[in-house]
Amino acid sequence: MTPAPVLWFTGLSGSGKSTIAVRVHEELVRRGVEVEYIDGDALREVFPGTGFTRAEREEHLRRTGYMAARLAAHGVTVVASFVSPYRDSRDFIRRLCGDFVEIYVSTPLDECERRDVKGLYARARRGEIRNFTGIDDPYEAPEHPELILDTRALSVDQCVARVLARSGGQG
Ligand code: ADP
Repeated sequence: MTPAPVLWFTGLSGSGKSTIAVRVHEELVRRGVEVEYIDGDALREVFPGTGFTRAEREEHLRRTGYMAARLAAHGVTVVASFVSPYRDSRDFIRRLCGDFVEIYVSTPLDECERRDVKGLYARARRGEIRNFTGIDDPYEAPEHPELILDTRALSVDQCVARVLARSGGQG
């Protein structure tokens, strides 16, 4: 069986990953594609012990990436929204997947911080949250992503359309 794509959204908190990913997922469902949506924050709610040190983040991503790859191997398209800040972790997942589509939502830190959708940047700046990506934890931007989405220049609809054009889903 040809592996289904794993549409992997990476970028800073508030960059727009889940806004775009949810819309992509909805559209693929509408088209009758077998598709699963997985989201970093939602998974952390299911496994509340998951921390934010480098080791914990890497483990979280390796486990998730493995499951995403297994689903895709059986023909289920995966839409995944994770900050996934480390290049090594993303490359680990890429190696597991037959069709890994790395989608870099490249919204810069100052814009994410201006949006501050969940109020987390303000809390991180006050020192109430530690190891916050972009503030006191690194974000390693993809070097060769399949897609870069600059949400300052593109509307949500335009971002969704670009992902769908790359996802292999039937129009
Ligand atoms: P993340 O999942 O990366 O943490 P969210 O999707 O939760 O980010 O939040 C992104 C915010 O940016 C939302 O409030 C969304 O409406 C806004 N936004 C503005 N323009 C865009 C765009 N072109 N694509 C995606 N989100 C956008």
